Amino acid sequence: MALINCPECQKEVSDKVENCIHCGYPFQKISAINPQNNIENNGIKKPSKEKKIAIVIITIIVVVIIVGIFYDNQLQNEDNYIGKLRETHIKILSGASIAEDLTHLTRKVWNNSIFKNSNIDTNKFTIRENVYSSNRINYRDSDFVSDFNVAL
Ligand SMILES: [Zn+2]
Repeated sequence: MALINCPECQKEVSDKVENCIHCGYPFQKISAINPQNNIENNGIKKPSKEKKIAIVIITIIVVVIIVGIFYDNQLQNEDNYIGKLRETHIKILSGASIAEDLTHLTRKVWNNSIFKNSNIDTNKFTIRENVYSSNRINYRDSDFVSDFNVAL
C-alpha cells in the first residue's frame, strides 16, 4: 500500500481506495477513463497523420490535374493558333492568285478591245451587249465596243 496525493484536495490517501477519503474523488473512474482517453487520443493522432498524408497526396493529385488541364489548354491554343495561321496563309495565297487572274484578264480585255481580237474569255467584255452570245467565239470588228474603257 502506498500513499498518493488526491488530485482534487491534494491530501494523502491510500492508492487502494476507490474514492478519496477526504473529498470523495473517484480514483478508479479516473484510472478507468484515463487509459480510454489515451487510447482515444492515440486513436485520433494516428489517423490524423494518415489524414495529413492523404491530404498532401490529394493536393498533389489535384495540382497535377490542374497543371495537366492548363498545359493541355495551352497545347490546344497553340494548335488553334497554328491552324488559324495556316488558314490565313492559304487565304493570302488564294487572294493573290485571284488578283493575278484578274490582272491577266484585265490586260487581255484591254488588249483584245483595242486590237479587236475575238477571245472566249474576253468576248463578254469586248463585244457589244446586243451582239454578244456565249456560244459564238468569232466576231467582226464592228461587233466590238467602241472604247476599251467600256470593255474594262
Ligand atoms: Zn480528496
